[in-house]
Amino acid sequence: MREETLRKILSKYEKKRDAAANRLELRKKKLYSVFPRLEEIEGEIFSLGLKMGKLALDNPDDLESIVEHSKQKLETLKREKEAIMKSSGFPADYLSMQYECPLCKDRGFLASGEKCTCLRQELIAEAYKMSNLKQVLLRENLATFNLDIFSDEKNSNSELSPKENMATILATCDNFIMNFAESNGENLLFYGTTGSGKTFMCNCIAKDLLDRGHFVIYQTAFSLFAIIEDYRFQKRDNAIDRESYESLFECDLLIIDDLGSEIQNTFTISELFHILNTRLINGKKTVISTNLTLIELDQRYTGRIFSRLSSNFNLLRFFGKDLRWENR
Ligand SMILES: [Zn+2]
Repeated sequence: MREETLRKILSKYEKKRDAAANRLELRKKKLYSVFPRLEEIEGEIFSLGLKMGKLALDNPDDLESIVEHSKQKLETLKREKEAIMKSSGFPADYLSMQYECPLCKDRGFLASGEKCTCLRQELIAEAYKMSNLKQVLLRENLATFNLDIFSDEKNSNSELSPKENMATILATCDNFIMNFAESNGENLLFYGTTGSGKTFMCNCIAKDLLDRGHFVIYQTAFSLFAIIEDYRFQKRDNAIDRESYESLFECDLLIIDDLGSEIQNTFTISELFHILNTRLINGKKTVISTNLTLIELDQRYTGRIFSRLSSNFNLLRFFGKDLRWENR
């Protein structure tokens, strides 16, 4: 399953590179039609390399001066090109390849032979069925966030209005994203009623960190534990492989949405503890959302899970009337 997935993804990368090369050709054509001298310079630079090689072969004793002379000529040509580009009004990198991932130049692998983060993310998105995430994230992100949909009116038993509360949560999440690379042991637990914006906030965090090139796994508790169970008991042919399973412990951020929606048994509870505890020990961050109250969390999960949550997670309560905005 993984082999086939990898092949599929790599052929997508090939298409991306082809598309980048095509776009570059188009840009070149456009630019050269306005500044034909640029095309001449390109040609001169190209033939300079050939000429230098030939001269060096014919006159091995003058190698040094040939190289020096060519270098100077090349410099002059480059400067002329830069000057034209500058006055043209086109961006300086207009004639460079523009890849989606500059790290691996859309190859999926780094020069060291290691998988690039972008490829690891693609593989994990496939394994954890996160492929529809991109569309959701286009719709839901911090840029589309509107505090005004929250009420200004305080409920008798809370200090803050839903709007003030959401502003505080927003600031906390913003900080979480900004300081994500720091090993500050920050984890977030969103709890509160349905429709109060928890999933939306999970989406926002996922989007921001994915955009910044972090390795993120995002899944609902229900699907996550079903995937883990398939893996553990090799229930299906397309069960995830070991590397994908281990990514749960190693990824930069694990987001478990809707904790409590999973089928609960000793297996899921011990897996949950194992994942949370290992991530905490290794300083890997986790975001959890749940419709359960803190008391329900304490009752449903073992004491050792609850104590990890209550002492290592920033507990953020979402409240306000059901806005149903998560389904919009
Ligand atoms: Zn890459």
